[in-house]
Parts: sequence; C-alpha cells; structure tokens
Amino acid sequence: MSDEIPFDRTFDLGPGVVDEVIPGVRRLLANNPSPFTYRGTLTYIVGRDQVAIIDPGPADERHIAALLEAVRGETVTHIVVTHTHRDHSPAAAAVKAATGATVVAEGPHRPARPLHIGEIKSQDAGGDLTFRPDQTIADGETIRGPGWTLEAIATPGHTANHMAFAHKQAEVVFVGDHVMAWSTSIVAPPDGAMSDYMASLEKIGRRSETLYFPGHGGPVRDAPRFVQHTIRHRQGRESSILHRLAKSPADIPTMVRAIYIGLDPRLFGAASLSVLAHLEDLVARGLVHTDGPPSIGGIYRRARA
Ligand SMILES: [Zn+2]
Repeated sequence: MSDEIPFDRTFDLGPGVVDEVIPGVRRLLANNPSPFTYRGTLTYIVGRDQVAIIDPGPADERHIAALLEAVRGETVTHIVVTHTHRDHSPAAAAVKAATGATVVAEGPHRPARPLHIGEIKSQDAGGDLTFRPDQTIADGETIRGPGWTLEAIATPGHTANHMAFAHKQAEVVFVGDHVMAWSTSIVAPPDGAMSDYMASLEKIGRRSETLYFPGHGGPVRDAPRFVQHTIRHRQGRESSILHRLAKSPADIPTMVRAIYIGLDPRLFGAASLSVLAHLEDLVARGLVHTDGPPSIGGIYRRARA
C-alpha cells in the first residue's frame, strides 16, 4: 500500500440546505469555508422527532437559525460535541437555550500537554475555551433515542478531548475532525498530540463500520482502508523528517520546505505545527534530540543509532 491517501473532495452541498444523507441522518453546512474547514462545518441531525444534534457548529446566527428551523416541531434531546474547536462547539449554547437539550462531550477544552514557558497558543487551533458540557461521556458509553444509539469512541489526537460517535443501527461513525475524505487532519500541539493521534487511527481502523461522516467535506467511504492509507501517510511523513535530519540538524521551517512540496502558503503555520507534532513524538521515542522541550523555534538533530 502506498502512502498516498485516496482523497475524495466531492462535495456539492451549499450552506443552509438540509440534506438527508442516509435515512435518519440529516446534515447542514455552516457558511464558514476556509483552508482549514473546507466548505465549512457540517452539523448532523440524528433521528426523527426525538433527535440528537452532532456538532452544532460555529457561533454563526444564520447557521443556528437554519439548524433550529431544520428541527422545528421535533424534540432535540442531546447536543453532542466531537471536540471543542471554535468551528464545532460554540453554537451549543444557543441551541441549548432554544431547545433545552443536554450538551454531551468528553469534557472542556484542554491542551494535550502542559504549555511550555513562553509558548503562545496556536491561532489555528482555535479552542472554544468557554465550552462546558452538561454531561460528560467516556469511551464506550452510549446515549440513545428512538431508533438511534450513539456510542462514544475516545479518539484523542486532533484535540485531547476528541470523541467520535458510532451510530449503532446505521453502522456509520460521526468522526468529527479525526478522519476526513478531503484532507488530512491537523494535529497541532499543544491542542493535538501525534502519538495519541496515531493510536486513535489504529483504534478506529479496527472497527467494522465502513462509512464515516466527518465534520468537513463528504463521507469517508471504504473507511478502514482509508484509515490504513492515513496511517501509512503519517508514517511516511515521519520517515521524511528523519531522512531530512539524517543530512544535518534543521529547524522546522527548513523541514516544512523540504517535505511539503507545493504547500498552500496559508497552510505553512499548520504544516509547521504538524511537523512539531511529529517531532514531539520522535523526541519522546529517543529518535530525535533538541535542546529543552520540543518547540516551534527549536533546532532538531537525528539521534545517533
Ligand atoms: Zn477541529
């Protein structure tokens, strides 16, 4: 298997349109397109009459109004949040106020590791720091309504509190930003951690579901195979970093320029953080050295074999 991921960027849904993507699952796109969010954040509505909303989305009045219109006449029992980035969770407060639903998530936003002295939080990560769930949910726990059961799958890596949710009856997984068909996921310290991310890929790839609904872009089909490609791709990136460092010590911008050929300049910061995420993992495993804790400004050396 190659380390090329078979991306599928097909996506023809416009903002504000309610689309029943499979029976009993509707989706609605927020109008927040960007290089990080693709066409925007997808909010999913699970069930009929008594429904759960997955990832209510950004604090965008028009999206919230469209979402409330989509569930008019129905009872929203749960607002389920995959993770606390500002494009996924902030609308929970307004949707809860309008519906009285219970907000369910793994927990508040938190970094994957303690911040280093002087470390500035990444502007790309965009944590929703005010978010608090009404009900925390742990790996393997379920919430249910008529015709649907959602099982929480702890999938830390993109963020420390990331959860995917398996729809047991439909045999699909709402994967948030863990796996997406259009792009790799951003794993950016301090929100994200590469060792956790790789373990979470292995974990979800062992499951039987073959169709994933991500927070951005179209469905992931043939999902376990796609996950294996993603794992290979990350391993390939790690090899590229080690290969570059075998030539000489280097800083992160040098490695980004060597590894990411044809990178959209708007994504240079995100790519730098992704390389930092790999380096944190490589330093922890003793394969790479740096002075002090791995940092965005550090110089990195290949450890002597
Ligand atoms: Zn995210």
